[in-house]
Amino acid sequence: MKIAIVGSGPSGLYTALLTKENIPDADIYIFDKEAKVGRKMYATGNGKCNILNKNLNKKSFKNGENFSKAFEVYDFEKLKSIFDRWGLEICCIDDYAYPMSFSASSVVKFLTQKCQNNGIKIILNTTMFEYAKKGNKYYLNTNNTKFDGFDFDILVMAGGGKSQSKLGSDGSIAHILSLHGYQLNEFKPGLAPIKVKEIEGLSHVNGLRHKAEVSIYDKSNTLLFSEKGEVLFKNDGISGIVIFNCESFIVRNNLSACEIRLDLFPDFSVDEILDRFKDSFSKNGFLFLNGWLEQGFIDYILKRLRIKSQQQIAITNLKDMSELLKSLSFTYKESYGFDQSQVSVGGIDIDCLSPSLESIKEPGLFVAGELVDVDGFCGGNNLSWCLISSLLISKKLKEISHR
Ligand SMILES: Cc1cc2nc3c(=O)[nH]c(=O)nc-3n(C[C@H](O)[C@H](O)[C@H](O)COP(=O)(O)OP(=O)(O)OC[C@H]3O[C@@H](n4cnc5c(N)ncnc54)[C@H](O)[C@@H]3O)c2cc1C
Repeated sequence: MKIAIVGSGPSGLYTALLTKENIPDADIYIFDKEAKVGRKMYATGNGKCNILNKNLNKKSFKNGENFSKAFEVYDFEKLKSIFDRWGLEICCIDDYAYPMSFSASSVVKFLTQKCQNNGIKIILNTTMFEYAKKGNKYYLNTNNTKFDGFDFDILVMAGGGKSQSKLGSDGSIAHILSLHGYQLNEFKPGLAPIKVKEIEGLSHVNGLRHKAEVSIYDKSNTLLFSEKGEVLFKNDGISGIVIFNCESFIVRNNLSACEIRLDLFPDFSVDEILDRFKDSFSKNGFLFLNGWLEQGFIDYILKRLRIKSQQQIAITNLKDMSELLKSLSFTYKESYGFDQSQVSVGGIDIDCLSPSLESIKEPGLFVAGELVDVDGFCGGNNLSWCLISSLLISKKLKEISHR
């Protein structure tokens, strides 16, 4: 069986290795337009590569429900066991799983070398422009004339999404598939910081972080999403893992207008905060706020409440202050865009694909990883999906090879 895999990201590398295990005599080629293997993977987990999530849950994924069985069969332990088998040691910090090396580059080196040791050919600097199907064979049109006329029994599209295109994936494979009649759900930037409309005074908190319970409300004030995490404030918006997840939720659900509310003290009710404020105010005067917040936050809160200076805080302001800290609200403007996004929401519609991710209309063509319209929240979910998609594909290829 001759197999072409387009894309040397995690889903391409995983698919190649798993397929070689299942079909030892498979002749596998991985093509990538970049000069380096798996460029995006180097950037994962801030260079540490958050490779899996210990609490893997289909609910963290767009279209996760459609792959319920896969998420059941390929749970965290099963996924980890594959790395154990390969010799790539995994360790966990809370729910986040990392390579023991805490180094994304060591993972890319390990996977690349393992592919080469198994006779998998990795062809770099080779951009796919088009493909053709003649009879049961697939042909690639690339800038590398050496492969003109090469026929493949199987074509695996592992070209990724559109986020941070400087790292390789630029949406070109999705575009090619759309020209072949595949439904492409437009890529949008997921897992990205959010720009907000209320930017006045944000310069006071630019660069500061605060733990918060972050909630998304729609126009009719219905709570849609809520998660706790650390928020990083910016001059014109908010960031941090919890905000990345909010952005994915907003984009997945096409929420053009929504409000993001931060509860900066989720362990206390408004009344509890107010009581403590009153008590401290009676002992410390305006200084009471420094017992609760960094100066930047104090200045910002004063600005939001139109109080000119900390010294002018009156006891009558304490209720508004407690309420604001429990519900610091921002109107969603837009995301910071693909350049700051970690995953693309959208991709090849799952209705074009079988549960094994094989094309329904072109048997022998498979779609892997981020290119499929499945994306996960932060925390190793997207690399987990790459591995799950590769497992589904390689299992199906084994069945095909036995026919
Ligand atoms: C900064 C950052 C940090 C991240 N951190 C994490 C993390 O810690 N944990 C996690 O789970 N996920 C993380 N992600 C997401 C994760 O990296 C991606 O979901 C994952 O890389 C997708 O893998 P893939 O193989 O499907 O696609 P990609 O990794 O994007 O690989 C696709 C490959 O296809 C090649 N290609 C594209 N078009 C063509 C063409 N026309 N011809 C030839 N080759 C082509 C590209 O060059 C690329 O190498 C992060 C993403 C970013 C940007």
